[in-house]
Amino acid sequence: MPGLNPPPDDPFAPAAAAGVHRIAIPTPFAVGRVNVYLIADEPLTLVDAGPNSGTSFDELQRALEALGHPLEAIELVVITHHHIDHLGLVSLVASRSGAEVAAIDVAVPHVEGFSEEAEADDDFASRVMLRHGISDDVVSALQSVSRAFRAWGARADVTRVLHDGEAIELRDRSLRVLHRPGHSPTDTVFLDEQRRMLIAADHLLAHISSNPLLTRQRDGSSGRPKALVAYIESLRRTRELDVELVLPGHGDPITDHRALIDERLVLHRRRAEKIYRLIAERPRSAYELAQALWGNIAVTQAYLTLSEVLGHTDILLDEGRVRELEDDGVVRFGAVVR
Ligand SMILES: [Zn+2]
Repeated sequence: MPGLNPPPDDPFAPAAAAGVHRIAIPTPFAVGRVNVYLIADEPLTLVDAGPNSGTSFDELQRALEALGHPLEAIELVVITHHHIDHLGLVSLVASRSGAEVAAIDVAVPHVEGFSEEAEADDDFASRVMLRHGISDDVVSALQSVSRAFRAWGARADVTRVLHDGEAIELRDRSLRVLHRPGHSPTDTVFLDEQRRMLIAADHLLAHISSNPLLTRQRDGSSGRPKALVAYIESLRRTRELDVELVLPGHGDPITDHRALIDERLVLHRRRAEKIYRLIAERPRSAYELAQALWGNIAVTQAYLTLSEVLGHTDILLDEGRVRELEDDGVVRFGAVVR
């Protein structure tokens, strides 16, 4: 249980000293615990809430009490993005406390229409998987897994709509709202310019490269959004921020965001080149590319790895080095001969 003051060697101690308390909430996902942040200010603010489960709720409640702020005292819940490990408990926290719920404009339909949106996202994911070489049985298995996981999410009413660039004013601080699409289309980071502190959620993680998950376009177009291309652009913008502490959605804080972002940019460049070499050998589907890179992939990881591959083929497509060859509804990527 977190105490009032973390020990001085705790990497979250500088944040806690500034009134931003990390609470790690259990999730049923491979990523492990999710970081929720209590900002001891006025209004008393919670950033994200954790997944919708009894265990997670109990832990959240106990941790808040240990910090001297009962859950009922929360006045504002801020959502970083619509993924269920962050969003699931928002509605319950809001109903128990009467807190306002704030989210960026583009997140509102995902948050308020959670079930229908998740269903439509799954349909989109299934079509993408079939189109890129994943077999029917894997696709339907993954659909059942996804449906089962959906119980860890829940819709919430957004009572305060945020816009990119505006600031949330608290008594002792101001948080600049910055849209950073890529990991999800709704990713939002919150910048405390004065303390040079950034609450970044899953936009930047220290221990794993944040996956740019392929997500359905909301403008009704059927095309595949270029999640990794958008993510890299978002990383470049975050790189320019003058911050010394980044508080992520999972794992430990980041103290040198520029070095980490540079590492990520190099990793994506290398991976794109590796994928290009595989494509230059012979045309391959995204699924075949994923297998060539990572071997036999667990069913639950199929969409994540496919998103990862397609992110990189998007880069190569944009550079004019590969093209899509469609045969019988399945896409293979082939090298452009120049
Ligand atoms: Zn996420």
